[in-house]
Amino acid sequence: MRFQVLPSSIDEDGRASARQHLLTAMIDDRVAIDAGCLAMSCTEVQRDNVRDILLTHTHLDHIAGLPIFLDDMFARLDGPIRVHATREMVEILERDIFNWSVYPRFSELRNERGAVIEYVEFEHGDTFQVAHLTVKSIPVNHKVLATGFLISDGTSSVAITGDTAETDEFWQVCRSMDDLKGVVVEAAFPNEFDELSAVSNHLTPLKLQAELEKFPERKCPVYVINIKPMYRETVVSQLEELSIAGLEIIELGRVYEV
Ligand SMILES: [Zn+2]
Repeated sequence: MRFQVLPSSIDEDGRASARQHLLTAMIDDRVAIDAGCLAMSCTEVQRDNVRDILLTHTHLDHIAGLPIFLDDMFARLDGPIRVHATREMVEILERDIFNWSVYPRFSELRNERGAVIEYVEFEHGDTFQVAHLTVKSIPVNHKVLATGFLISDGTSSVAITGDTAETDEFWQVCRSMDDLKGVVVEAAFPNEFDELSAVSNHLTPLKLQAELEKFPERKCPVYVINIKPMYRETVVSQLEELSIAGLEIIELGRVYEV
């Protein structure tokens, strides 16, 4: 399985920077997890191939690229983009984004060949098929109802938290997997933002360390995502100081073969 978190900002030389504002994780250039920067940062190959988008939740940094992607793809789609989301997420998208005021209601529009968006609803905890992948939704602990995902291609599996504070079921699922090749977790704020991280349901390096104690027997790397760009250097150095076994800061744009 090929796993990649797309970059969402550029550096002084115009190249992808390590500052991650938005989340889109790509599996096999074919299935996107969240659409934070999907339209803006995906490659031509990914633009041609991605027809399934899994949503962890509806916060803007996870969906900002969805309306733009639909707009970009509108004329060339042979079939709808399938957005896999819970009923609640669909209602929020239709009410707050695709409401003609923020952006067109694509669910009411058609190109020459038919619909351009199809909502495929799942419930928290469901296991379902998306393209060549088996996906399990794992409810996590965030400000809005949010899900993590366990994604398997039959040979290997990757688990991704999305945004979460302290949670249990996610780690329970990780412990039960024999073919887990990577755990992708968030650590949004530095340790000194203990209160803010609690109020906004995010993790800090110390909280992530405590979370990983729920999965002590892990044999795969732990990749950190969703570090708030403003605090990136502090979070990275605090994580380094903790020397957590197998922990790496994900490199945006890099393709991980797992
Ligand atoms: Zn969020």
